[in-house]
Formats: sequence, structure tokens, C-alpha cells
Amino acid sequence: MSKSLPTRSENYSEWYNELVKRANLAENSAVRGCMVIKPYGYTIWENMQRALDDMFKATGHTNAYFPLFIPKSYLSKEASHVEGFAKECAVVTHYRLKNAPDGSGVTVDPAAKLEEELIVRPTSETVIWSTYKNWIQSYRDLPLLINQWANVVRWEMRTRLFLRTAEFLWQEGHTAHATPAEAIAETEQMLEVYATFAEEWMALPVLKGIKTPNERFAGAVETYCIEALMQDGKALQAGTSHFLGQNFAKAFEVTFQNKEGKLEHVWGTSWGVSTRLMGALIMGHSDDQGLVLPPKLAPIQVVIVPIFRNEEQLDQLTEQIKPLISDLRAKGIRVKYDSSDANKPGWKFAEYELQGVPVRLGMGMRDLENNTAEIARRDTQTKETRSREGIVTHILDLLDEIQRNLFTKALNFREANTHRVDSYEDFKEKLETQGGFLLAHWDGTTETEEKIKEETKATIRCIPLDAQEEEGVCIYSGKPSSRRVVFARAY
Ligand code: AMP
Repeated sequence: MSKSLPTRSENYSEWYNELVKRANLAENSAVRGCMVIKPYGYTIWENMQRALDDMFKATGHTNAYFPLFIPKSYLSKEASHVEGFAKECAVVTHYRLKNAPDGSGVTVDPAAKLEEELIVRPTSETVIWSTYKNWIQSYRDLPLLINQWANVVRWEMRTRLFLRTAEFLWQEGHTAHATPAEAIAETEQMLEVYATFAEEWMALPVLKGIKTPNERFAGAVETYCIEALMQDGKALQAGTSHFLGQNFAKAFEVTFQNKEGKLEHVWGTSWGVSTRLMGALIMGHSDDQGLVLPPKLAPIQVVIVPIFRNEEQLDQLTEQIKPLISDLRAKGIRVKYDSSDANKPGWKFAEYELQGVPVRLGMGMRDLENNTAEIARRDTQTKETRSREGIVTHILDLLDEIQRNLFTKALNFREANTHRVDSYEDFKEKLETQGGFLLAHWDGTTETEEKIKEETKATIRCIPLDAQEEEGVCIYSGKPSSRRVVFARAY
């Protein structure tokens, strides 16, 4: 095996980059900010997609697909939307190349200039609402509950594999409703779906909250979010759900006839999570030996490694292991049997550790005699030898326990790294020494929020949904405040 990973305490950022590459999740491509997602990484993403998609369907949504290109004029229709996205748009201006006159290859054919330039979608509100105009006439057409799985492009300047890329994969839900109450209920429901997914599948605890006006999605009336804490004490916005009010309905003239026969503008929502979740998963649980994956999302849940000296021993082991594999698969467990003789067991152990396989089973000749197997847990890095009697049930329980343990560990970490601070001095000191979530009073102004960001790089991650009313004074301005908000440095 190649040399070990940089440790998290040595260089967290290097540790992350190296881990993503060495665990075969993704790599950089020729275009800066764009990544190749490798099969092992893509399988984790597929597992995430499947779980989320089931949750979307269970809440009444259906999938559809809208085009990659958006006419430039569409993007301009909603003023704050275009203002928010203009600075990171990829624009298509031509549709043909020709041979360069100087023989240096191909060049853009100036004769093939598009009449109207096209934007590569940074998000699809505009193209979708221009379509909804034709789909919605009456209250009977509502609610319209649609999701799309797609790629989008935002020309980000500072990129990092999965966490922030120029092209990323995501899902975007776009719904239309007859009343603001219904639209807000939808926004909140989808935030709940995201939080459930993060906690139950990714084993990552998240804070649910509302963004400040400054951090709100361009074109939204209200942005709800889930925020997770990474092991270096930085926050990560893991998902957003927006109440759009009638902003896009007005921009695209989407109206419906209500039950009384009156024409009204439709109310909208949009919500999305992206391949950033892969980054959250990696940063949330992994250690200096490699990935640590929650069993529910792991491509391989159990790997079985036979320990043999020759072909004959391997045959004997395989004969015993085969029925075990069938039994595990029959219970829906994703099992890999690695009987290749290309690498030694020790090498394999390290490799599966790097790949974050939750449970490893080792079996050698002595185990054959004793009817035992060695079971190793990735999360605690402990191992024990057990009888093979009842081992399938034991493994099922173990996978559940690992899933729960990862969540508990992440929750304990978050709790240990969440602090109430009452002075700006304390705030700055905590940020420098340990990071984490800082609960502090804020006067509610964008001005103060920006000053704090300028001076400390910390932003308001959210106003928690469950924030208690509490009289206090803003740590920066000393003005009165009625509840604490969550600050952190963030990815
Ligand atoms: P937004 O449309 O800005 O609300 O973003 C929707 C989701 O995409 C959020 O969960 C973001 O965390 C995520 N996201 C935004 N920008 C990027 C990016 N450059 N790379 C990966 N994920 C992103």
C-alpha cells in the first residue's frame, strides 16, 4: 500500500483531498472545479439518491426533466434571482467551431453566433416556471409537486471536491400551490425530509433553521436550511428548502382560477440537496485510517476475506463461506467476497478500512476447525472471534449498532463543540481555538452580520427553528436581541 494518509490534526484539508482520491471516490478533471466521480463514489451517491427519491415519492412528488439551457431573457425576469446568479453563470454564445486559419486547431465560428445567448442552468426555477405557466390554469391543477435529478453549473471560484464544485449533481424540487400556507407547509415538510435523511441515513445530526436575509436564496421569500458540523469545527450547509412566495409566478405570469373563479398568482417552493452531501458524509465520520461509512449508504456492508496458503485451503474456506454469503444476501446485506490471491490479507484489511466498509469478516483454517469467524468493526476498529452459529443475525444487529453509534458519536461531537457565547471577545477566542457552532445574540441587522463576517470569517448559519425566546444583547453592537442565532465558520 502507498504511504498513509495525512492525519486530520496535521492537515485537515489535505487529509480530506487525499482521502477522496485514495478511497476512489472522485478526482479532479481537466476543467478546474469539475470532478470525475468514480464508480465507488458514484455508488454511494446512488444509494443516497435512492433513499431520497423514495422519500420524495412517499410525500407525493413525481420526477420530470427540464432542459440544461436557459434563454438569457428568462434568467432576467426575476430581479433578485438574476442578481444572485449572474456572477457565476456559464454562457453559451456560439454553436459551431471551424478550423483556425493559422492551422492551430479549431476556433469558434463567428458566423455561428446564437441570436439569444443561453445560460447553462445554475438552478431551474426560471425554465420550470416558464413551463408551469402552460400547465397551470385552475385550482384543479394544484398542487403541482415535481422533482428533477440533474446537473447544474455555478462558476465557483474556490472549489473543493464534492463540497463546492463548478458542476454538481443534485435534485431540485419545484412545487406550485394555491395558498401561501400550503407552500410554507411544503417548504417545511421538505426540510424535515432532508433532516430525516441526514440523521437516519447519513448518521449526521443537523440543525434546522432559517437563513438571514443576507444568506437567503436569490428569489426566495424565506430560505430554510439544515446545517451540519464537520470534524474540524466548520459548518456545512447540507440542504436548503425555499418558500418562493409569488415571486416566480409573478415573473412568469403563472396564474390560476381559484374556486370563486378569480385569477390569482400561484405560490411556489423549491428545495435541493447536492453531491455536497458526499463531502458531508466523508468529513462527518471518517478518520485517519480512511473512510467510515454508515452501513445504510455503504456500497459494501460486509467484506469477507479468506486467509489461505494454497488453492486447496481456499477451496475448503470457500465451500463454508458460500452459504454464509447467500444467507447474508437473502437478508438484503451487500456482501463482497474477496478471494483474490493478488494481495495478502493484511493489504486487503487496510484497503477495506480505507474504503470504509463497516464490517469485515476474516476466516482462516483455524476458524474452519472451530466453526468461528473474526469480525472487525470499522467504526470502533475492534475485532472479536465468534462462533458462526447465529452469525447472520449478529451481523444484522451489528450493522444497526454501527449506524446508531456513528450518529451518537457525531451528535456528541456537535454537543461538545456548540457553545453559548456572550461577548465578542469570547466569540473570537472560541472561533480561533476550537471553532464549532457558537450560539450568540445578534441585533438582526445585515450590517452587523457583515461586520462580524469581515472581522472573523464567521457567518450566521441559521436562526434555529427551535430557538427559545431569550432577552439579551448583540455581541457586536450591544443592541437588544430576543434570541440566539448560530454562528460558525463554514465551507
Ligand atoms: P441552493 O440552490 O443555492 O439553495 O443550493 C441547493 C443545494 O446545493 C444546497 O444544499 C447547497 O448546499 C448545494 N450547493 C450549492 N452550491 C454548490 C456547489 N457549488 N457545489 C455543491 N453543492 C452546492
